[in-house]
Amino acid sequence: MYLDNSATTQVSEEVFEEMKPFFTEEFGNPSTLYGIGRESKKALDLARKRVADAINAKPEEIIFTSGGSESDNLAIKGIAFKLSKKGKHIITTNIEHPAVKNTLGFLESLDFKVTYLPVNEEGIISVEDLKEAITDETILITIMHANNELGTIQPIEEIGQIAREKGIKFHTDAVQSFGKIEVDVEKLNVDLLSLSSHKINGPKGVGALYIKKGTRVVPLIHGGGQEKGIRSGTENVPGIVGFGKACQ
Ligand SMILES: *Cc1c(COP(=O)(O)O)cnc(C)c1O
Repeated sequence: MYLDNSATTQVSEEVFEEMKPFFTEEFGNPSTLYGIGRESKKALDLARKRVADAINAKPEEIIFTSGGSESDNLAIKGIAFKLSKKGKHIITTNIEHPAVKNTLGFLESLDFKVTYLPVNEEGIISVEDLKEAITDETILITIMHANNELGTIQPIEEIGQIAREKGIKFHTDAVQSFGKIEVDVEKLNVDLLSLSSHKINGPKGVGALYIKKGTRVVPLIHGGGQEKGIRSGTENVPGIVGFGKACQ
């Protein structure tokens, strides 16, 4: 009996069936203009719509990545590098997933300052502590939605409201909450939100970053300009198709 579904899940039969043709007959490159490529492009568009619909976002606000870790890296470094002239202070918690924690550790080595908010005995941060931590230099708040070890859920809506009032970008890692509780980017007041496919019965090695319209990030992978130039590289079509189906 497998009981570690927070570590990963089995790909569901329906998801696998939907992916299969994209390993064989439907192998086209979505960036090419002829028939077979166009079919792949259509499949990407459908998957993007399915992911967007699942979090109440618009399809153009979804950037496909290689998973939750890359989405966290893109959100955090992408904003940090974009806004470093404005300030170099970031606020987070001391219970983040390593994909967030170690990204912030790397930024500290580049002279960014990070405040790690503690959690109470119930695993929740204090919104008062957060307000006190904000300075004129704060460019980003990154606080996870549901914790991968504790299952605790942070008051994202309220944190998002504070961030928005102060004009500070707000990212949440929603990898663990997605598919279990409602994840609605409008209600949560977030600018960036990370998702991973393999935690919701989709394949491994694929995920997405929601980037609210008007929010700019510096790309981490440069190349052929795929994903609006934010994440270059020929898309993982079968993986993305599977992720879309899992979201649906
Ligand atoms: C699993 C997980 C990740 C990493 O996602 P990958 O797709 O495995 O890279 C990030 N954040 C949280 C909270 C997770 O549970």
